[in-house]
Amino acid sequence: MQAWSLEHNQFIQRDNEEVALLPAQVRVSVEHLCLAPSDLEQAGACVPGAALVGRVVETGAAASAWQDVRVLVPPLQSCGECETCRCGFVGVCPSRVILGTDIDGACAETIVAHTRWVTPLSNGLEGISGIEAAFVAGPLLTAYGLFARAGTGAGDVVLVLGQGPVAAVLCHLAEIRGAKVLRAQSQDQAISAIAEHNSQKLPMRVLVCDGPQNCEVAVAVATSGSIVVSQLSQGALSVSALLQSELTFVAIPFAHPDLLPETAAMVAKGDLAVSEFIVAEKLGVGSPEAAQNAFASGKCLIAHH
Ligand SMILES: [Zn+2]
Repeated sequence: MQAWSLEHNQFIQRDNEEVALLPAQVRVSVEHLCLAPSDLEQAGACVPGAALVGRVVETGAAASAWQDVRVLVPPLQSCGECETCRCGFVGVCPSRVILGTDIDGACAETIVAHTRWVTPLSNGLEGISGIEAAFVAGPLLTAYGLFARAGTGAGDVVLVLGQGPVAAVLCHLAEIRGAKVLRAQSQDQAISAIAEHNSQKLPMRVLVCDGPQNCEVAVAVATSGSIVVSQLSQGALSVSALLQSELTFVAIPFAHPDLLPETAAMVAKGDLAVSEFIVAEKLGVGSPEAAQNAFASGKCLIAHH
């Protein structure tokens, strides 16, 4: 099985051995995958690629019903059965693995996934194109996870901190859901956006996504009573700054994969257009550079074989 791994910021093709399937696992032939710069940073010795769309080509003993089904595969693969998972915290399950970080990811001909977390593209979801589907399982799922965890609704003031495709599509999502959206990539920008909008006294939803050191900015600029939800942000967070504020701070390492069918339905029904957040091209030696370039323009690289 052919796969791409990262060496000196360039992809090289290698021949990977196919692992045997556990009963509830399926082997998915990768059609389109999404590739963000953070996926490349986190891959280490693994094949990168955290989210994809593809078709099931082989099933474990307890998963035969999935044969030939076209599926979305999200980054997070937890056990789904431990106390932590059953309480809803699948992102911190002790046996959780992240595709492309802890196990080989989507820059390959095939990947192995647990049926519990894949979403079949059926029952109204058939119409999503491969390019859009890979984006749905990656940046859009993350964006929707942040939006939902903050309990965002129409009329809320939402400050989105981030510079990449998650931030871009999150702004779009919040706008179409009727929120008042402010976007910033730095503390200065956030302060002026809040002042411009005359929101200095209103509690807000501060959603922290794909950008450097945004947690500190979030705590520094959030108004009293705000809810800050952060996804794997970098940067040191001062505990004393947090204690002096009147904020609710929530960290979600990854969006819950159970949100994936709902996320896909928004795109399938035409409620949310995502094509403007995507650059699509064939997977190749230059894909890491293409991913960086796409990210710099607020877009995500969707690669295909
Ligand atoms: Zn678990």
